[in-house]
Amino acid sequence: MKRISRTERSKRSRSERARLAAIGLAVAGVLGIAGTAAAVLLAGDSQPETPEVRAEQPVVAAEVATASAETTAAPESVEVPDVVGRPLAEAEVVLEAAGLVVRVTEDPSTEADAVGAARGVIAQEPAALQFVPAGTAIMLVIPAEAGASGAPATGALAGKVVCIDPGHQARGDSRQEPVGPGASETKARVTGGTTGVTTRVPEYEVVLQISMNLKERLEAAGITVVMTRDTNDVNISNAERAQMANDAGADLFVRVHADGSTDPGRAGIATFYPGAGQWTGSITDPSQRAAGLVQDALVASTGAADLGITARTDLSGFNWATVPSVLVECGFMTNPVEDRLLSSPHYQDKLAEGMATGIIAYLGE
Ligand SMILES: [Zn+2]
Repeated sequence: MKRISRTERSKRSRSERARLAAIGLAVAGVLGIAGTAAAVLLAGDSQPETPEVRAEQPVVAAEVATASAETTAAPESVEVPDVVGRPLAEAEVVLEAAGLVVRVTEDPSTEADAVGAARGVIAQEPAALQFVPAGTAIMLVIPAEAGASGAPATGALAGKVVCIDPGHQARGDSRQEPVGPGASETKARVTGGTTGVTTRVPEYEVVLQISMNLKERLEAAGITVVMTRDTNDVNISNAERAQMANDAGADLFVRVHADGSTDPGRAGIATFYPGAGQWTGSITDPSQRAAGLVQDALVASTGAADLGITARTDLSGFNWATVPSVLVECGFMTNPVEDRLLSSPHYQDKLAEGMATGIIAYLGE
């Protein structure tokens, strides 16, 4: 099931809003809603509101609900109308008029026959004729949009969570932590990372810039982003960062780093994923798929040398993760050319664009 959040749905075309408003008039007529109440309803729908604002408009909903003769239960209680079989837009108007909140889920096994055809409601939950508190969310199941299979509908990304971890921090912390849950072997909690050979810009700074760029792109695609840090002045260990991704229920944990080498000629992009080690066996397969997609998209967007994907079982930041994880090495700060590129806003755009493309491809699988 692909979930469509209110956020995504609010971004839908104005034409759908217009269609909704038109049907609203028709439904208002059917329900015998007073013209003024219908006008209030339509005014509410024609404004480009945020979903939060829409959800918090019980005043409008209540006003309309009062006008509906069907709502005669206790003041805060609403009888759920039967909207199965109705076109989605009509069902939305009916439910919102009753003071209920609408959530929509697509059933990919059923496809609407043509683009533009009314997508009728297949099922609703809670069922009709039950009394629920006003403001209750009613989940409507509709057919998937025709032709939407294959490329992921943008709606499919709403509800997805990506945790981005910009590697390192201003000051490393050499105190030790176990390399995995219950491990006797330990590693430094977090190191300071490498530094640009020419620019002298530290890794933690450049990867934060790239990460914030990536965050904007993912959010623009409707993805929820959780950052382990958005400033350099923190002290968060690698295990703690993984735990943050776990706690967020991330669909993907993306660690952003830059590389260093004793060979100044070494250059290119590599992506790591957790190998089938003691702790990470269950996340290896999805992580490997994500790593491949991210690596390919990064190489395509930047033109950098392709150093491929590598399984790692020695990284605390993977071993503590229980969600699919990748670590991108964006380039070598010990290479004078890549060092300059990594600090260039234009190249950072290409890096973030490549990562976003790969991540979105993975989440849409
Ligand atoms: Zn690093």
